[in-house]
Amino acid sequence: MLDRPYEAYVYAYPHKTSYRPLEPKPLLSDVWRGEARDALSFYTHVPFCEVRCGFCNLFTRTGASASLTEAYLDALERQAIAARAALDESGTAPRFANAAIGGGTPTYLSPDELTRLFDIAEKVMGVGLGAIPLSVEASPATATPDRLAVLAERGTTRLSLGVQSFDDVEARSAVRPQKAADVFAALDAVRDAAIPVLNVDLIYGIDGQTRQSWQASLRTALRWTPEEIYLYPLYVRPLTGLGRLNLGHDAEWDAQRLDLYRSGRDLLLENGYEQVSMRMFRRLDAPAVEGGEDYACQTDGMIGLGCGARSYTASLHYSFDYAVSASEVRGIIDEYVATGDFSRAEVGYRLDADEQARRFLIQSLLQADGMERGDAAERFGAELELLSDRGFLASAPDGRLRLTDEGLAWSDSVGPMFFSEPVRAAMRAYELR
Ligand code: SF4
Repeated sequence: MLDRPYEAYVYAYPHKTSYRPLEPKPLLSDVWRGEARDALSFYTHVPFCEVRCGFCNLFTRTGASASLTEAYLDALERQAIAARAALDESGTAPRFANAAIGGGTPTYLSPDELTRLFDIAEKVMGVGLGAIPLSVEASPATATPDRLAVLAERGTTRLSLGVQSFDDVEARSAVRPQKAADVFAALDAVRDAAIPVLNVDLIYGIDGQTRQSWQASLRTALRWTPEEIYLYPLYVRPLTGLGRLNLGHDAEWDAQRLDLYRSGRDLLLENGYEQVSMRMFRRLDAPAVEGGEDYACQTDGMIGLGCGARSYTASLHYSFDYAVSASEVRGIIDEYVATGDFSRAEVGYRLDADEQARRFLIQSLLQADGMERGDAAERFGAELELLSDRGFLASAPDGRLRLTDEGLAWSDSVGPMFFSEPVRAAMRAYELR
């Protein structure tokens, strides 16, 4: 515990590798009966990309044909009809507080396909696009003016661009071949589309990256004054392109990543950004997005559409099967598009009160704003004391518990401390494929 700074990126708890087939598979209408549905999140997963980046273990495939993307949208529509019917059967009409389309690369879809996807969200699910925050991910090669025009017209409030590096050599090292000139064109196009929030993702820890080249990438990003910048440490994970290279990274690499993180953080803080979490930085004068006030991600449920999307109720997280390798991902997508009956949850993890408390604590504590002392703080007193002893946690004058600067730097080690033993055991037993 707390042996090394880069244990795991805890973007959701429990991790999908702890999910197992649900037996018997519950009807969605039973899953959602009695659940709050007045501030739901809506998520759609598009599992297609033009290239597979060497560091990426997300659920996505390359080389999808137009007939496959069309079949995928057909399946999404069938799934949306089933999800909406289950919500209607099990309680009052749902209200969605925010929406996101991620991947993969949603803008792999053509403008017409994107229009169809938005129609499914709006007309089938009843998501009030245009009135709530809507975030869409894009890659530089696919952030074209015609697609961005559709996104802007349908109410996209945040466009997240996966740049990773402005340095052509670093981009090649991360096995993401792209030219800085193309990235510049994409950033100009996003600004021309007047989507209120531009987010730029950058990666540190790439082979050959130096403090100078990292800061140069950051300064280049600042030319577009993004409202948000995410700084991601590079991870080399099994079955990814970089994982297959067997780079043998070690403590020296950890030290390099910590150094790059600190220099990146400091540069952004000096340039008018505030730190929201280890990864997220927001421009201090970024506009507030209207309609995003009544959402509390720790407690509200989520409806996810698509074969890589999770859905959450308070006590069940569910999804479809998960894989990383190209052949397995293709198989799962093929199975998804051939599915006719989406009325049941397939694969998932049931959260009892202890797991719910762990999830709440992880999601709160890893934010720069920290958390109030309360039941969760009482329950995990020993772990919190350990963090204090290491200088990673402090009580703020307002009474909140907050990670210190160093604690935030070690977020990827702090989060996994709170995984339960059953979740750890399920993750260990999971055979990655
Ligand atoms: S990092 Fe993004 S663009 Fe690259 S393969 Fe993964 S999902 Fe696709």
